[in-house]
Amino acid sequence: MEKININELTFEELEHFIEELGEKKFHARQIFKWIHREKVTSFDEMTDISKALREKLKEKTYILELKVIECQKSKKDGTMKFLIELPDNNAIESVLMRYHHGNTICVSSEVGCKMGCKFCASTKEGFVRPLLASEIEGQLHTVERYTKEKISNIVYMGIGEPLDNYDNVVKSIRIINYPLGLNIGARHISLSTCGIVPNIYRLAQENIQCTLSISLHATTDEKRKETMPIANKYSIKEILDACKEYIKITGRRISFEYALIYNQNDSKEDALALAKLLKGMIAHVNLIPVNEIKNGVYKKAPEKRIEDFMNTLNSCGVVTTVRRELGSDIDAACGQLRKKYIDKTDEFSDKKYKEKDNNK
Ligand code: SAH
Repeated sequence: MEKININELTFEELEHFIEELGEKKFHARQIFKWIHREKVTSFDEMTDISKALREKLKEKTYILELKVIECQKSKKDGTMKFLIELPDNNAIESVLMRYHHGNTICVSSEVGCKMGCKFCASTKEGFVRPLLASEIEGQLHTVERYTKEKISNIVYMGIGEPLDNYDNVVKSIRIINYPLGLNIGARHISLSTCGIVPNIYRLAQENIQCTLSISLHATTDEKRKETMPIANKYSIKEILDACKEYIKITGRRISFEYALIYNQNDSKEDALALAKLLKGMIAHVNLIPVNEIKNGVYKKAPEKRIEDFMNTLNSCGVVTTVRRELGSDIDAACGQLRKKYIDKTDEFSDKKYKEKDNNK
């Protein structure tokens, strides 16, 4: 019989599983804490569990452990970028950013991405598979173990489209949220989407108070189609209607991400059009100076244009900030490190073997 990935079980599923083993339900509390709060990697670390139960668990289940293939640290701001290996040897990225309000991790939700946004490195190698909830939470475990630091905020802004992997992403939020586990409040969790409209409506009904970020990046459907294929499926109007519903049901304000691309979407007219679109909504605009990717055609807007764009929005009453660029001296834009890894797998595997040799 195939062993069960114990990290993948919600608390209720774990309770059920423990009962099926013929054990008392209360052990689920102890085990859930060991797995999700203490982040143990072996059953023998579960010191308040009998040896007999530990043996049973070992026989039927396994603890998911993800490996760090590479970690780059920014000398400028301490941002750390992790290339993480999954059990099937696929690689994903997570980034740890240091803000004054605490450590924030940017997690991947899929291996690769099928959305095809033209400015984004994550999509260049296509889509491989969705991540399991445990592989999403596992990124927090891996980074906390590696750095021995606590993470207080999570943004689903790494590789992949979270609302394309809806069930696993929602499950991961519930597990991360759970009081016996990492216990990170939903208000400290942001989910970013290119705008998969039906799943914005679904998310509104989940009773999860996470912040929703919408990757808008353009103010008309025609212009949006030039950089984001998803715009062929859902219009800006449909997205904004879904956002209004999300605000109505959750009471949460929405963030709109707008990557400023030189001469593409960064004019004063664009800023005024954006202000008009968001008029009357509880919204916040996050301007991201586009991160130039290798072989990419899009150029970053000059500082002055970014500032003007922000001032125009602010003067129209739309709260706007520029996302502070972190880790600019490492492969900052998500997907870049994985792409490099895929392009040069040989170089990386040489390095891995060397590291193994050094450990001998
Ligand atoms: N699929 C989700 C999460 C992706 S990444 C989404 O589309 O929202 C998080 C944000 O970074 C998105 O707003 C995405 O559009 C943006 N992004 C991707 N590549 C970028 C780049 N090269 N420069 C600036 N922002 C980028």
